This record gives sequence, C-alpha cells and structure tokens, in this order.
Amino acid sequence: MNTTTAHRKPDSVLTLQQCATWMERYQQRIHKEHAYLTDLDAKIGDADHGSNMLRGVNAITDRLQKNPVQSIGKLMESVGMLLLSSVGGASGPLYGTFFLRAGQESLEKECLTAEEFVYLLQIGTEGMRRRGRTSLGDKTMFDVFSAVCESAQQALPCEMNTLVARMAEAAREAVEESKPWIAKRGRARYLGEKSAGHIDPGSASAQMLFETLAEVFTTEQ
Ligand code: ADP
Ligand code: MG
Repeated sequence: MNTTTAHRKPDSVLTLQQCATWMERYQQRIHKEHAYLTDLDAKIGDADHGSNMLRGVNAITDRLQKNPVQSIGKLMESVGMLLLSSVGGASGPLYGTFFLRAGQESLEKECLTAEEFVYLLQIGTEGMRRRGRTSLGDKTMFDVFSAVCESAQQALPCEMNTLVARMAEAAREAVEESKPWIAKRGRARYLGEKSAGHIDPGSASAQMLFETLAEVFTTEQ
C-alpha cells in the first residue's frame, strides 16, 4: 500500500480492489443495458454502440479474472488496451485513450487520494479530447467526461464517496443538457439538426461508467 495513504480510512481513497469492482460492475451494467445503448445509436448512428461496449467490457472482465494486476495504473492500462483492441467503432479508441493515459499517471499505485484521482481523470479526458479532435458542445462522450472533471475539481477537497457521487450527478446532468444539441462529431453529425432531441449513445455509456463508480462506494463489495 502507498505509505502516504495507508493510515487513511477506506473512503478517503480509491483502492485497486475498488477499481477492479468498478470494472466488474460496469460490465454488469453494460450487459443489462447494451440494447438501450444500441437503440440510442440506431437513432443517430449505426446501431452498434451497445454491442461494441459489450465486447469491450466482456474482454476486460475476462482478462482481469485470468490475470489480476498489482496496481491501479496497470489495471487502467490493461483496460485501455483491451478497449482499443476489442471495441471497434469510434468509442474504442476514445475510451481506450482515456484509460491508457490515466493508467500512465498512476503506474505503481495501489490506492489514490481524491486529488490524485481527479488529476488522472483530467489527464485521461484531455487524451480523449485530442484523440477525438473534439471540443465542448460537439455532443459526444467528451462533454460528459469534461463535466465530470469540472465538478470533481470543484468538489475538492473531499472524501472519495462524496467525490464519486458528485461525478455521477454531473454525468447525468451533462447527458440531459446535451440532448437538445446538434451533434458536431461522430456519425451523428451527418444528421445535422435531426440529431437534436436524441441522447448521444457514447454520453449515455459514459454516464453509466461514472454511476457504477459511485455505486462501488454505496453498496457492499
Ligand atoms: P461508431 O460511431 O464508430 O459506430 P460507437 O457507436 O461505438 O462507434 O460510438 C459512438 C459514440 O462515440 C458517440 O455517441 C460519441 O459519444 C462518441 N464519438 C464519436 N466520435 C467522436 C469524436 N470524434 N470525439 C469524441 N467522441 C466521439
Ligand atoms: Mg455506432
């Protein structure tokens, strides 16, 4: 365990075990909701976001069960590589880059303080922005990640459970806020004004990612 954080009570840090549980729970959530994600993508894309994400999260849980990792950085790098290689579609490289960049910032760590976690969220989100050549307001998953980073930064200093609850709330709000927007990136942009009034599928899967993280802190492991 990281010596600077070993004395803290559990909720003040994010542990390697909690990260692994986060990924397991995300797999279960996507398993439950992949048809919904695909329906969203059918309206403004090519009807594959649910199946793309399901392939990715299945690959993650499969790998982590067979090869447990020893640090948060290694876990995130592994998640990033698996998403890049298994998802297909635009969302694979975008989520993949987020986790890879976040992993590079937390290489040997077995637990992270809220401050450390917010920092790697920001690094990962910046990686996603560059990879997607996207900006705020384009109506993509980046809008959600960006809103989550901002609310997380504002919540500091705080305990991890407060932080992740705020992040999940910010993700939910960002998805609703962007619903009336016209998409400017990804396949949805081809629809122009017809993309308005529909939830962006990648934003919905990002909301689920942050909701499952919050659940790790509110339910039994
Ligand atoms: P594809 O569009 O290739 O079929 P998916 O359906 O799996 O891939 O993912 C679509 C989601 O990816 C969109 O809803 C959007 O959130 C996200 N996305 C697509 N292109 C970009 C981009 N350039 N930058 C950020 N996010 C993007
Ligand atoms: Mg698609």
